[in-house]
Amino acid sequence: MFYKDIFILQLLKTTIMKKLLLILILCNVFFINAQNDTSYWQQHVNYKMDVDINVHNYQYNGTQKLVYTNNSPDNLKEVFYHLFFNAFQPESEMDIRLQNVVDPDRRMVKNLGTGQNPKYESRIAKLKPHEIGYLKVLTLKQNGKPVKFITKESILQVILNQPIKPGEKVTFDMTFTGQVPVMIRRSGRNNKDGVAFSMGQWYPKLAEYDFEGWHADPYIAREFFGVWGDFDVTLHIDKKYTVGGTGNLQNPQEIGHGYQEVNQKLNIPKGKKLAWHFIANNVHDFTWAADSNYQHDVVKTNVGTTLHFLYKKDQKDKVAWKEVQPYAVKALKYYNKNIGKYPFKQYSIIQGGDGGMEYPMCTLIEGGETLHSILGTMFHEFAHEWFQFMLATNESEHSWMDEGFTTYISTLASNEITKRNEKGFSPKNYGGYFYLVENGLDEPLTTHPDRYNTNVAYSVASYTKGSMFLSQLNYIIGEDNLKIILKKYFDEFKFKHPTPNDFIRIAEKVSGIQLRWYLNEWIETTHTIDYAIAKVEDKSITLARVGKMPMPIDVSIVYVDGTSEEFTIPLSMMYGHKPTNNTILKDWAWANPNYTFNVNKEIKSVEIDKSMLMADIDRSNNKFEK
Ligand SMILES: [Zn+2]
Repeated sequence: MFYKDIFILQLLKTTIMKKLLLILILCNVFFINAQNDTSYWQQHVNYKMDVDINVHNYQYNGTQKLVYTNNSPDNLKEVFYHLFFNAFQPESEMDIRLQNVVDPDRRMVKNLGTGQNPKYESRIAKLKPHEIGYLKVLTLKQNGKPVKFITKESILQVILNQPIKPGEKVTFDMTFTGQVPVMIRRSGRNNKDGVAFSMGQWYPKLAEYDFEGWHADPYIAREFFGVWGDFDVTLHIDKKYTVGGTGNLQNPQEIGHGYQEVNQKLNIPKGKKLAWHFIANNVHDFTWAADSNYQHDVVKTNVGTTLHFLYKKDQKDKVAWKEVQPYAVKALKYYNKNIGKYPFKQYSIIQGGDGGMEYPMCTLIEGGETLHSILGTMFHEFAHEWFQFMLATNESEHSWMDEGFTTYISTLASNEITKRNEKGFSPKNYGGYFYLVENGLDEPLTTHPDRYNTNVAYSVASYTKGSMFLSQLNYIIGEDNLKIILKKYFDEFKFKHPTPNDFIRIAEKVSGIQLRWYLNEWIETTHTIDYAIAKVEDKSITLARVGKMPMPIDVSIVYVDGTSEEFTIPLSMMYGHKPTNNTILKDWAWANPNYTFNVNKEIKSVEIDKSMLMADIDRSNNKFEK
């Protein structure tokens, strides 16, 4: 997802809201991170779906054959499916949460008050029966025999006839019917740009079961976690509609719409509908969008991936959708080089949705009146193909691992490719985090994303604080190490579900530096960093750790004779230090609030962390000038 923090920050400027938030902050809950300590396994799905879509009433009927392989060491007595569209109904959990959170997502509410004194009305609460979303399972069989299931709003609980044994495969045959909701969030019909179908989270999707157990999270607001596997999907839709999405189209000559091979004959069947047949292997979701007025541009690259651009023909932003195309080619090459090779044959950038949202092999992006308004979203969503659709972390638990890492790498890519700012990831990207700290809004990144006190705390934590996890790691272990770590992380964990522990172990092995303390402090607590220059006397300097979070310290000293020297003070818990030309001083043990060292010449000035990559919350005490 792409996060436009400006809106949220402006929203929070009202004083009433600040008071409410201060009360809420007292309710902070700390969660402990479960970690994978058994040998790795993951479940597998094989979906075959055939779906008939009615473009007039936005309803659809489908069949689903799901072959599920239990690779876990456990007997499974039940399974769970997500029925996401059921969240878009009055009085759903999503609706109730929307009515109770102090800073609701602006897209999901109507403001009946003023900017200063907002009074929000949930848009879900006002949906009429023909506008709601629903997904109803009509019949379900386990290995050919009807099986008992219970619908609990956006989750289907299936009580199995026989448990699924370790290593066993079962087949679930399902019939279902759905209605596409009015666009409220991420998916829906007729978005702001007039795109008819934005179809993320649209089918009954098996929940993931892993070393932590079932992940049957109700759909309230946040993102997703899916089972790795293969999808074979046929969509029957009105001939006038162009479809884009996940997977490779198997029958382009029977479809046309820009997918056909130009030197081969088209063979369009008679009738009102076309049957679009897609296959997507090694993915954990399947998404599509369709409109009767899409322009479809195809851009071939020399790295084995074809880019598809689908956007509305009938609006003023057509120029931006052309201009963004060469940038997308450069983004693909940047991520291939700096993370690892994109293995799929296609990636589609599709106008749709309600902002920007990542899906396998595609993204739905709203708007694009100017190149600048879609460029940042394109860089961000494209990077999610790596940090979610190959490195499939649990977005519904560790949102910082997909949003933070995506923000970090897409900022670097965008800086280099657009030449807007070649400095890389810099402290100017830290503003949102300092805002949270100043206002007492910060919560630990182990909080379940649905259950942060405020939306702003979730967003800044996931995107900003998550990306700072990497930029500060750069400060701790050095840029060259970080570059190697990202590639190694990709090589070892692509097409798996990496955990925070998996990432930090790679970082430790590559750098030779112990880093558990860093994962704990930055992710699992809200401790802050504040180092100060306590005293400079003669040739002796005393530094102080004012904040709770420890860090290694870089110190720059300018001498009276005009020369200067750079020092690094490793944290004792690191058992090592970054590769650097700086003079390495003795370790600083965490428990010690002060640290004194001597130099050989007369001191003119001292500064802690000139790079400003360390998120020191009070830089006023970082400098000494004689
Ligand atoms: Zn995102």
